[in-house]
Amino acid sequence: MTCEYDLHCHSTASDGVLAPSEVVRRAAALGVKHLALTDHDTIAGVPQAMACASELGIELICGVEISVTWEDQCFHILGLNIDPTCELLGAGLAQLQRVRQERAEKIADQLEKHGLHGALAQVLAMAGQGMVTRTHFARWIADRGYAPSVSEAFERFLGRGKPGYVATRWAGLEEALSWIVAAGGLAVLAHPLRYTLTARHLRRFLTAFQSLGGVGMEVVCGSSTPAQIETLADYARRFRLLGSVGSDFHDPACTWIELGRLAPLPAGVTPVWQALQP
Ligand code: AMP
Ligand code: MN
Ligand code: MN
Ligand code: MN
Repeated sequence: MTCEYDLHCHSTASDGVLAPSEVVRRAAALGVKHLALTDHDTIAGVPQAMACASELGIELICGVEISVTWEDQCFHILGLNIDPTCELLGAGLAQLQRVRQERAEKIADQLEKHGLHGALAQVLAMAGQGMVTRTHFARWIADRGYAPSVSEAFERFLGRGKPGYVATRWAGLEEALSWIVAAGGLAVLAHPLRYTLTARHLRRFLTAFQSLGGVGMEVVCGSSTPAQIETLADYARRFRLLGSVGSDFHDPACTWIELGRLAPLPAGVTPVWQALQP
């Protein structure tokens, strides 16, 4: 089933493998009518995506997936329908770009010490003009045969506690939400079940998130099971958060996650796109 809305995906502006225009073309061909491009900590892919979407007659929503640190843990907050000219947001994302650059140097140093030589130059070349991410390191590790797959590269080298792991201080929650609000956007918690939090911890996060201006949470993700969707729908209803749907598409080779291939939002959850109407 194709959902006409897909509000979470990536391009070469961060760790996606398709150029922004290719992401839009693929989404349109699959029947998506409203697409948010949400690259990690950047909106650099949006102009190209916007131009392509207007050619194809679909709506492109300007989005971003901001990396946040809250209580020493990393969370991803989507900003949907943000004003790309907002200076506060621009300055915040520029800061995160520096954090990413410095972190990449440290990851490469640690991998070097672990016997994986020459990562930095090649990973930066792979990232090109886009944000450098751990996904680029994982692809490099897998290409080099240091791990049998990208997910194994995370498992063996890049995950928390592994040799290439670098603890990183991203944007504060309050800070990131203030950028999204200043840019006139809607702040949505991405993939709420991917942080391996206890229910109590997730409730505490959602309380803080909402009190600082967060308005929505993803209820349907590209990889969600029906039981997970029900769990998330319960949270959305209980907290009166708007429900979002997003595939988190990165790569056509990951055939289990596709643009627009998303289950419908359960009854009683208000779709985030009701708040996106002009
Ligand atoms: P970063 O923001 O640079 O730490 O990179 C995070 C990105 O790595 C996520 O957005 C995912 O795309 C990817 N990622 C994280 N964990 C895994 C995993 N276990 N397998 C594959 N990709 C992962
Ligand atoms: Mn990613
Ligand atoms: Mn994410
Ligand atoms: Mn994502």
